[in-house]
Amino acid sequence: MNNEQLKKIFAKNNQPAYRITQIRRAVFQAGISSFVEISTISKELREFLTKELDILSFSVKKILVAKDGFSIKALLELHDGFAIETVLLSSGIEKWSVCVSSQAGCVLNCQFCATGKNGFRRNLLAEEISDQVLFWRQYLKKEKGMDKISNIVYMGMGEPFLNWTEVKKSIEDLVDKNLFAFGSRSISISTAGITEGIILLAKEFPQVNLALSLHFATDEKRNKYMPVNNKYSLNDLKKALQDYFFKTNRQVFVEYIMLAGINDGETDAYELAKYLKSIGKRQLLHINLIRYNQTERGFEATSGNKVQIFKKYLENNGLSVSIRKSLGQEVFGACGQLAGK
Ligand code: SF4
Repeated sequence: MNNEQLKKIFAKNNQPAYRITQIRRAVFQAGISSFVEISTISKELREFLTKELDILSFSVKKILVAKDGFSIKALLELHDGFAIETVLLSSGIEKWSVCVSSQAGCVLNCQFCATGKNGFRRNLLAEEISDQVLFWRQYLKKEKGMDKISNIVYMGMGEPFLNWTEVKKSIEDLVDKNLFAFGSRSISISTAGITEGIILLAKEFPQVNLALSLHFATDEKRNKYMPVNNKYSLNDLKKALQDYFFKTNRQVFVEYIMLAGINDGETDAYELAKYLKSIGKRQLLHINLIRYNQTERGFEATSGNKVQIFKKYLENNGLSVSIRKSLGQEVFGACGQLAGK
């Protein structure tokens, strides 16, 4: 919901400002789906707001729920007709994570990613980003009678650091005690390697988590499969990470999608260990090995056994590694699968 618009409507219609607090609380924290549900304001005001303001900045076109009920994807249509996707995921312990999109489409065209294949449409506005969280809060309340969103990850469609002005505003709303009231540490930003963004995050939100989608540890392979590397090389990334560690002393999550025959061999493990160790502060790096989720882009997932061998090699080099359980695959809501369909 657009807060500025709410303030303007109130100012224009001589409504007392304290009502704004009541409305915000109901919308952002109680997760109401319509103004009619706010019992603390008059009937006239409820009807007035219903006419003047939309709670969500998009309409919901489709919701796909996985059989186990723990991965749910929503296809959303923005006011100008562009489609985005957002995903709600749980590891099954009643704690939910929301994966938000920051752009409609993506310009970076990573070769393994369904979003990248469809090109870039436009940047999302701050409320179009934070409304994805609002939408899932409403959904959980309606469908499960509770709201246990514990994490928000900017890992949906788009590169957050290429839309930093609006992403920044959306984070400010998410941590605002009068709005969503999330802790900064429950928010993670994932980047394909925009170094200016990493430097800005360290400066402006040192408590927000950083995830780096690395996936390849030589410039040759990264240039080929992640064109962003032509502008921001591995050496540039190293410097940005060193700056990040210096300013925050916080852990960085290194994401590594395992693609059969492409980046999962012995040499790849050697190059990855060599590169990560060269950054320094290896105790602040945690590598997530991710099983590839099938898209139309034709890559195959590395076998489970090979993933284990890769993991062992990195661990033997003193690196901290997990194999990330791939959630959301069944609803095509997993990492790299969001195609706006
Ligand atoms: S992986 Fe991320 S950065 Fe790369 S094309 Fe897909 S959405 Fe863009």
